[in-house]
This record gives sequence, structure tokens and C-alpha cells, in this order.
Amino acid sequence: MKRITILGAGLTGLTLAYQLKKAGISATLIEARNRPGGRIHTLYNEAQAPVEMGATWFGEKHEALLALLAELQIPFFEQFLQGLTFYEPISTSPPQPFLLPNQAPNFRIAGGSNALIAKLLSHLDSTQLILSQRIQKVDYKDGGFVLESEKQHFSCDVLVSTIPPKLLVENINFSPELPIDLVEKAKQTHTWMGESIKVAITYKRAFWRENGYSGSVFSNVGPISELYDHSNVEASHFALKGFMGGAFHGASQEQRKNLVLQQLVKYFGKEAQDYLTYSDCAWQYEPETFAPYSGYILPHQNNGDAILRAACFEGKLILAGTETASAFPGYMDGAVRSGMDSATQILQLME
Ligand SMILES: Cc1cc2nc3c(=O)[nH]c(=O)nc-3n(C[C@H](O)[C@H](O)[C@H](O)COP(=O)(O)OP(=O)(O)OC[C@H]3O[C@@H](n4cnc5c(N)ncnc54)[C@H](O)[C@@H]3O)c2cc1C
Repeated sequence: MKRITILGAGLTGLTLAYQLKKAGISATLIEARNRPGGRIHTLYNEAQAPVEMGATWFGEKHEALLALLAELQIPFFEQFLQGLTFYEPISTSPPQPFLLPNQAPNFRIAGGSNALIAKLLSHLDSTQLILSQRIQKVDYKDGGFVLESEKQHFSCDVLVSTIPPKLLVENINFSPELPIDLVEKAKQTHTWMGESIKVAITYKRAFWRENGYSGSVFSNVGPISELYDHSNVEASHFALKGFMGGAFHGASQEQRKNLVLQQLVKYFGKEAQDYLTYSDCAWQYEPETFAPYSGYILPHQNNGDAILRAACFEGKLILAGTETASAFPGYMDGAVRSGMDSATQILQLME
């Protein structure tokens, strides 16, 4: 039986491990962080709404993700958008309330996006997941791999990387080297949402709903550029969640919190100051997700490029992860597709 190792226990890695488990194959997941989930990261506070620091929404077109949720019997619900939304085009005029036109629904996973991660994990044995091991070196020799972290060596026959392509080629030293065209492309491949700052504030009451507001804001003034209601599916615990502009990476979390509260008071009044918890995540400071680019990179640049899925080392190194996906790269749906496609590749290798 071939030993299979998966680098990264995000949605791609866990989907792949789950698919293999169904086929009777027990792969090992090696994860650098001290938690699974990668760019899916839900914060849970007792008696408060779970808040997403990472992936949140999906739509009807995300068929691979929808099929996985159905298979795992994970419920989801529509993003709350009822009531007036604020639009703030310019700092010299007050925010304008308006009614959002009808649009295709966006969904959120009931209980938080981490419910999907937890469900996938529940199908694996606990020994399949190794946390807090950042792989730095991969040697391919005599038809097998030796992986090195700061603490340990691991060996396997088939290796699947689900690490974002840019980080894979910059943070891992391969021997022999990876093909140069792959390395050059990967360096110029955007890791989706790697520069984003997510902000979440929980409240005892949804005072915005009570006053006829959806909780949504679109602002050119900021610091939050987009904001949404983030209450739980039961509508029993309440929160607002949004994206903050990249300029605020330099601010401390305390400074960001004060700026956010000031902004919310402007739309919703003094009640916005009476919050339970404030959380934010500046993903640019997460070395397992972000590495600086040498020049300007467009959002989604090179995502889905076939070269990022190139077979290496006699087909025994499989390159996966949402940025490599053939459809919806960058998104959760792309991660699920990539996990499924690499499972198919491995099953073919085993034949
Ligand atoms: C702020 C934010 C908001 C987002 N919003 C949405 C959204 O609303 N909808 C949507 O569809 N998608 C969204 N996304 C994208 C979504 O999160 C990703 O598409 C998906 O989670 C990627 O899964 P993955 O497993 O391919 O990659 P990742 O989740 O990045 O998993 C890769 C894993 O590899 C690990 N790793 C890295 N380096 C090493 C190493 N050297 N050794 C071992 N392990 C390593 C990482 O820690 C990580 O766990 C968002 C992302 C972010 C950051």
C-alpha cells in the first residue's frame, strides 16, 4: 500500500483525505498551523454569534461545494439583507440609505464555515492529522519523498501539496528543483484574499434590524469598505462583519477597533458602541497564507492556470489547492473541486 501525505489541512486537504477515506485509503495530513481549516477560520465565543475571519459566502453556481454540503448533511442559510443598506460614496456627504436591488442569494454555513471542516475531520482518524509541522524541505529520491520540518522528518510514496502555489515554491526547498516554468508562474500567482483584513463585532441585540437596516454598508470612506449582518442562523446571537481596507495593516488592533466603532456609530447610532466582542484578522500577517509579491499582482492572477497542476516527480507529486482548481479557483468551491480531482488522480495511481 502506498503511503500518501497531504501538505495542508485546509478545505482542499480535508476534502481529499475524506474522499480517500471513503475509498479505504488513510492519508496523513501535515499542517503548519496549530489548527486545521487554513483560510476557513470561525471564531466561537460562548453565547455569541460565531464569526468568520476567513471564507464565508457561496452561491448557487458553486455546485461542488453544494454537493459536498449535501453529502455531509450540513445545512446552510441565506445572507440576511432585509431593510435599508448604507452607501457612502464620499467623505463630504452623509451616508445614503437605499434598498438593495434583488440579486442572486448568497449563502452561509449554519454554525459557521468551520462546521464543514469539523465534519470532514470527523470522518478521519485522529492520527491522520499532524498539526504544528511547517514543512521546509522536500527530497525526492529513489521513487519516494522525505519531508523535513524544523522538528521532524516524514516519508511517503505520494505527496499532495495543497499549499498556495506562491508559498509552496518560496517556502519549501525542493530537491531536485521543481520545473522552472512552474516556479515562475507560482511566484506570480495571487493567493486569494491573502491581503484582506476581516473585522467582526458581536452584539446582544441586532439594533440595526430593529431600526429597519440590513446591517450592510458599502463605503468608499472606510475604514470598513463592506459590512454585513453576521448574526447566527437561529437569529438568537447577533454580529456585524466586514472588510477593512489594506491601508489599515499598519494600525494596531486597538486602533482598528476604535476606528470601526466610530464608523458604525455614524450609521447605526450610539448603540453600536455597546458591543460584546471585537475581532479582526489581518491575513497579511499569517505566514501560512501570505508572502509578499515582488511586483503588482492582480486579484486572482494566474489562478486556475493549468501549469499549477503540472505533474512532477514521475506524477508522484500532485499539486492541488484552490488556486490550482480548474473552476472557481480561489474560492471554497475551487478547494472542493481540487480535493476531489486530486483524489481521482491518486486512485488512478493506485490502480
Ligand atoms: C479573509 C478571507 C475571506 C474569504 N472569503 C471567502 C468567501 O466568502 N467565499 C469563498 O468561497 N472563499 C473565500 N475565501 C477563500 C477560501 O478561504 C479558500 O478558497 C479556501 O479556504 C482555500 O482552501 P485550501 O485548502 O485550498 O487552502 P488553505 O485554506 O490556504 O489551506 C492550505 C493549508 O496549508 C497550510 N500550510 C501552509 N504552508 C505550509 C507548510 N509549509 N507546511 C505545512 N502546511 C502548510 C496552511 O496553514 C493551510 O492550512 C476567503 C479567504 C480569506 C482569507
